[in-house]
Amino acid sequence: MRLPIFPGSVDASGQPATLGVMGGGQLGRMFVHAAQRLGYFTAVLDPDPASPAGRVSHHHIQTAYSDANGLKQLAALCAAITTEFENVPADALQILAATRPVAPGAAAVAIAQNRIEEKAHFTASAGVAGVTCAPYAVIETAAQLAAVPPDLLPGILKTARMGYDGKGQVRVANMAELAVAWAGLKGVSCVLEKLLPLKAECSVIVARGWDGAITGFAPQYNVHVAGILAVTAAYEGNMPPALAQRARAATESIANHIGYVGVLCVEFFVIDDGSADGALVVNEMAPRPHNSGHYTMDACDVSQFDLQVHAMAGLPLPLPRQHSPAIMLNLLGDLWFNAAGRPQAPDWQAVLALPGTHLHLYGKLEARAGRKMGHLTITGADSAGVRAVARQAAQLLGLPGLDALA
Ligand code: ADP
Ligand code: MG
Repeated sequence: MRLPIFPGSVDASGQPATLGVMGGGQLGRMFVHAAQRLGYFTAVLDPDPASPAGRVSHHHIQTAYSDANGLKQLAALCAAITTEFENVPADALQILAATRPVAPGAAAVAIAQNRIEEKAHFTASAGVAGVTCAPYAVIETAAQLAAVPPDLLPGILKTARMGYDGKGQVRVANMAELAVAWAGLKGVSCVLEKLLPLKAECSVIVARGWDGAITGFAPQYNVHVAGILAVTAAYEGNMPPALAQRARAATESIANHIGYVGVLCVEFFVIDDGSADGALVVNEMAPRPHNSGHYTMDACDVSQFDLQVHAMAGLPLPLPRQHSPAIMLNLLGDLWFNAAGRPQAPDWQAVLALPGTHLHLYGKLEARAGRKMGHLTITGADSAGVRAVARQAAQLLGLPGLDALA
């Protein structure tokens, strides 16, 4: 298959240009929307018949991610394939890549899937990126556990694989707690990271093409509550400009260093080092569009999902222009329950009456605490107005995290 894959085209056998995605969650759904708007057909591979992306795609292959037959069907349908979920087995992407362009590639996804490899990559690219990760130790054996340097404590023990939204993480104050926590995680491969004094958190989303061209968005300021993203603020002045510029440059270096193709999000900590701005520390990377970039759908002329489509299909990568300041509020399943734990419907009527509110619900029919059900983006003419409306919306819905915004 030759790139670019032109939107709306039909091949000699009559098959319409179809883009595929491994994983059918909300990120896949927003990818499908972007691809379809451009004129592509779409195919989703996700075992869940009720997956948010599967419900809106032209094709939905309902097999396990590593099912040989499912992968064969996806490759037969699609001119190019992407992923929306970093826990899709890298091997499956490797198999698809034998016959189709796959972006991001298996090697990049494999790095992001494993905190040990991810930290090794950050350390290796630190020279050019100018930013490194938190001090850490790999814990895979009892000997490594015993040899942990005391200055990594207090720290956070994180499983090397399958962690997201703060899952697979335990805060530990001393060696005894560390040993208990590692046993509690069944002795799987972990990293122990030093607990850092965070001033703030931010993330940067870039897209890199097959030809190495790179584009992206200004850094977002993020607020996490209980390990889950709660608020993203995207407007001028959300961060000190020099810090924002360093974060963007570091993200480009990290993408270039592995010849990344597709949309990449890198998350950073801003730590208190005594300076006015604070210092950047790289936290983790996501080989896909990211929750902190959802505001781009309403506040920019080109969204992170548009860039994902462009990058995989070999189309030009436009420089996105943000036309409105924005705040995004994540809508977790907790909103669907009252204080007594009884089901309730969030008051959308009141929220949607506020100016500049854009509601996105992902079509998940069952709400659970901590489950990402949707997000609300607030746009407006200026950041002060956006903050004021965001505070009203957060108050109506009982959402946390806005106090951390300047
Ligand atoms: P996940 O993969 O679940 O997003 P992260 O490693 O990003 O895991 O951790 C989730 C959140 O926990 C971070 O966004 C940050 O708020 C907090 N956190 C993680 N590591 C550290 C650390 N070393 N020091 C201080 N806070 C941390
Ligand atoms: Mg994270």
